[in-house]
Amino acid sequence: MLGMGEQASYPVGGIDYPQTIQEFDEWFATEDGCAKYLMRLRWPQGFRCPRCGSQDAWLTARYLLHCKHCQRQTSITAGTVFEGTRKPLRIWFQVIWYITNQKLGVSALGLKRVLGFGSYQTAWTWLHKLRRAMVRPGRDMLNGHIEVDETYIGGEEGGVRGRKTKSKSIVAIAIEVHFPKGFGRVRIRQVPDVTGASLVEFVKDVVAVGSVVATDGWRGYSSLSEHGYRHHRRVQTGSGDPAHVVLPGPHRIAALLKRWLLGTHQGAVRYDHLDYYLDEYTFRFNRRSSKARGLLFYRLLEQAVQVSPTTYRGIVGGVTNPVRRPPQKELERNG
Ligand SMILES: [Zn+2]
Repeated sequence: MLGMGEQASYPVGGIDYPQTIQEFDEWFATEDGCAKYLMRLRWPQGFRCPRCGSQDAWLTARYLLHCKHCQRQTSITAGTVFEGTRKPLRIWFQVIWYITNQKLGVSALGLKRVLGFGSYQTAWTWLHKLRRAMVRPGRDMLNGHIEVDETYIGGEEGGVRGRKTKSKSIVAIAIEVHFPKGFGRVRIRQVPDVTGASLVEFVKDVVAVGSVVATDGWRGYSSLSEHGYRHHRRVQTGSGDPAHVVLPGPHRIAALLKRWLLGTHQGAVRYDHLDYYLDEYTFRFNRRSSKARGLLFYRLLEQAVQVSPTTYRGIVGGVTNPVRRPPQKELERNG
């Protein structure tokens, strides 16, 4: 929300973000250039000392902002994905430029090869940190006409590397549908099961009240109208035509998402990390029509300075997958 006197500004190519690789190289040739750019993104209205509120500060050689008034030092990377990094910001900027310029994204192995990272683990950790930044904190709700459905990912289709497991992840998809054709933004998330509690909670988290929400006839969605949505149930007719898709939006997303996981990541996705991949897919899909790849760089960097840092340990050890359950809906429908 903008206050009085502030302008809603849209970032401009060549001024707010580099448009070409040449511009990128010029702007970010030095650590200084990167640090100043980061400061501008982090404090668009100018830095203010968190202790005394003074705007009078100088940048030390170690990239700390030193308040002239109270002497407090503020790290320009603390509280961002770059916190505690030992690598130069220049390398981070190069990685962000690289991954936002790859239309389909990049695997850890690809990043290791291209940027000459010593270890696969480093490349992997960086990608995961950046994936966390791909979800805009406090992002907008979908609105208008929305289609919602679930899909199953992993399991016997070969999505799991190494030991086979029959379990699958249930992924809920919500997408804005334009008329007569075309799609808007998407939201994708793992859900623990397909009960009304889980599915309606997902819809409430991502879709603005008052929207039209189309689903299939599954009873898990039956209470949507009680939560302020105009609920359209689309029930498969008895014609049995397999080409007829009741919810084309989620159907399309599910197909693209599975192809992307198998293609770019060659199925090497651990399913307790699936949420991060879903975030990356969402980030890319929602910006698919952006002609300016530099704008993607800008957006990702902008979000990277807003999220909490994560360590490799936090990514690997901190998350267990609570959502791997048998696909109950599938069983009930087929059984
Ligand atoms: Zn101060």
